[in-house]
Amino acid sequence: MRLLASTDFALRVLIRLAAESEGQHLSVEALARELGGLSRNHLHKVVQELAALGMVRTVRGARGGVALAKPPGEIRLGELVQRLEAGQSLVECFRADGGACVLTPRCRLKGMLGGAWAAFLRELDRSTLAECLAAAPPAPSLSPVRSPGPTATRAKKLPAGP
Ligand code: SF4
Repeated sequence: MRLLASTDFALRVLIRLAAESEGQHLSVEALARELGGLSRNHLHKVVQELAALGMVRTVRGARGGVALAKPPGEIRLGELVQRLEAGQSLVECFRADGGACVLTPRCRLKGMLGGAWAAFLRELDRSTLAECLAAAPPAPSLSPVRSPGPTATRAKKLPAGP
């Protein structure tokens, strides 16, 4: 099983936005840059989809951008993934038209796959967007204070500021 690339990107965008304090917007350009140079065009489409789902709100203008439309603790991952993957079929017989697999009349795999997908979503639904990002690692500890060596004694004193 593999999620759509657009679902993957949407989750990255939401996780990044969840790290912003409430009310803060990020431009699509900033998101593209901060998420490792993702395509801006692709992210524009992803943001539009998220806005249509009511997950983000967009603000126009120089100080505008994208922000979460609801607190990250209220966004359940199972429901989110299900909505982002709506219309996709695990295999052919899951299509709305039933597909054309000749095994369909006697196949029991379809039920197993359906159950596995439901279990996948149930498991994700136990968590929210707020739980997706670990706390930032602690700042590196300061090295122990040492007596100034010869380099330090030779260091030029900076002129006093204005
Ligand atoms: S083998 Fe079974 S699960 Fe796979 S497409 Fe055919 S009917 Fe569906």
